[in-house]
Amino acid sequence: MSMTPREVIERLKEVQELDQRLAALDREIDGGPKAVASFARAVAAVDAKLAQLDERTKLLRAQAKLRENEAKTAQGKVDRLNEQARAVKTNREFTAIRSEIANAKIEVGKLEDEILKIMEAVDAQEKLVAAAKEERAKEQKKLDAERAKVDAAIEGLKKSRADQAVGRPALTSGLPAEALSIYERVLKARGQAVVPLEIDYCSGCMERLTRNDIFAVQNASRLVQCKSCGRILFAQ
Ligand SMILES: [Zn+2]
Repeated sequence: MSMTPREVIERLKEVQELDQRLAALDREIDGGPKAVASFARAVAAVDAKLAQLDERTKLLRAQAKLRENEAKTAQGKVDRLNEQARAVKTNREFTAIRSEIANAKIEVGKLEDEILKIMEAVDAQEKLVAAAKEERAKEQKKLDAERAKVDAAIEGLKKSRADQAVGRPALTSGLPAEALSIYERVLKARGQAVVPLEIDYCSGCMERLTRNDIFAVQNASRLVQCKSCGRILFAQ
């Protein structure tokens, strides 16, 4: 036995109620990964900071290496001059070479001071790296916890969605194919396919209905679609 227009409208309202619950669950299921993504971004931000610190530490170490080589060369010069000093014959030569040795030693000392300063900077940098690593571990822990929480929640939501979706075919099975196809098309386009008549207006888009259509909606004598938005109307 086929359904009366009134039964069709009542059934479509039930289908819509279910479809809206399912859509709300879908939104919640989709929203979960977004919450996780914000935690993942925090971890990525610390990673970027770590990479920057690492880069600077490498540069400082390279600077220290350069100065060490220069210090070695300067020390070589001191050694060579000391060697030469042993072979000088006159006082004047000796004074000259002593002064050269003193200057070379000053150069070695200067370089060693610089190396020390650079190594202090490296130490400070390494402390920052250690702190950033600790921060990263904390952010990772938060991310893992959020992911576990969201995964568990999504499991529940998916199960609830599946449980509710099971009932849909029973609701739609008796409906005329044309009514169901109109419903589905309008739902997809408008988010809501069955809306109440509000005085003389479609409450979906506030378009005024013809007297003829208003009468049909009030008596549920046929399926009435709003001429403007296509929504199916029912009397409140
Ligand atoms: Zn409308």
